[in-house]
Amino acid sequence: MLRAQRGRWVVHWGMAGVLLAGACLLGGCGSGPPPVPRPSYAFVKRAQMHMGTLVTLTAVAPTDAVAQRAVAEGFRAIRYLEGLWSTWIPASEVSKINAAAPGTAVAVSPSTFTLIARAVEIAGLTEGGFDITLGPVVDAWGMSREPRVPSPAELERLRPSVAMGAVILDPERQTVTLRQPGMRLDIGGIGKGYAADLTAEVMRAQGATAAVVALAGDIRTFGTMPDGARFPVGIRHPRENNSVLATIELHDEAISTAGDYERAFEQDGTWYHHILDPKTLQPARGCQSVTIIAKEGIWADGLDTGVFVMGPERGMALIEALPDVEGVIVDADGNVQVSSGLRGRLQFPPTKAP
Ligand code: ADP
Ligand code: MG
Repeated sequence: MLRAQRGRWVVHWGMAGVLLAGACLLGGCGSGPPPVPRPSYAFVKRAQMHMGTLVTLTAVAPTDAVAQRAVAEGFRAIRYLEGLWSTWIPASEVSKINAAAPGTAVAVSPSTFTLIARAVEIAGLTEGGFDITLGPVVDAWGMSREPRVPSPAELERLRPSVAMGAVILDPERQTVTLRQPGMRLDIGGIGKGYAADLTAEVMRAQGATAAVVALAGDIRTFGTMPDGARFPVGIRHPRENNSVLATIELHDEAISTAGDYERAFEQDGTWYHHILDPKTLQPARGCQSVTIIAKEGIWADGLDTGVFVMGPERGMALIEALPDVEGVIVDADGNVQVSSGLRGRLQFPPTKAP
């Protein structure tokens, strides 16, 4: 997906020639250029499995050692966040919140607090479309294990536990409380985006001048390639496997896509997938895919799921209303809608221009 595909190489910066000419003019030298050191840049790209998905980290840095360290520390950050948020890890902070007796405040680290606070905010913006309290319902659909269609009675029994209003945050004490019995948080719709943000910050702090953090389709970038090139990313076509709907070049931005083709299955002629409408507790039906481009991955990831549930009309109205948020919505009939700020930035393959 990313333009640079090679595992590791050293880039000799093209600006060296310009610096050379300047030095010559200033120094008034006559015979041949003086020996000006050519700055070189290292490019390191590595992939590992984390958070149940393929994570690819790319770093550009002044030296190979710095780029290597940025990537290694980036992976360390992802492992740390997985330890905080995974519901597969009983000692994680999210598992502790879920296991606590109703009404018990659980103290969490700042990144977990921010994650849940932002999820509450996005729930409000998407008129309840985004809802991290769907945990028990996501499990009833067996989306991360054995997919199945739960009965309407089973879903109705779970309804009282779907209650964003019963997530209580105390910013002073940095605690999270779930007030209703049976509640469980599922941060699958936002966690990878925020993990991409925090990992990018770690890589920057380690000295990377540019980076791409990709947790499957949740991607955060900063900086550019040494020649000034931005990072091109493909948006997957929701109905054509391995086909790109459009490409876009990112610069200090994040991109995230929610699609009805992920963790999906067909039963008795009906297509079921993993993005659930909190109102019906059934897969949301308004879109095939929603791609959000934002400054931060936490917004891109949270909003792609929430806008998907809102559907194409209200979803695009929200995208247009939010500053620094752009999007591409493929509606249930396959029509492609592009937000106003993306016009001219997307490249469509010749046969797929909307
Ligand atoms: P991914 O990047 O893994 O494809 P998405 O951002 O598309 O994830 O979010 C889908 C995941 O979010 C589901 O697998 C589930 O865990 C959770 N989820 C499903 N429906 C909702 C919803 N309405 N609001 C918040 N999270 C949801
Ligand atoms: Mg999402």
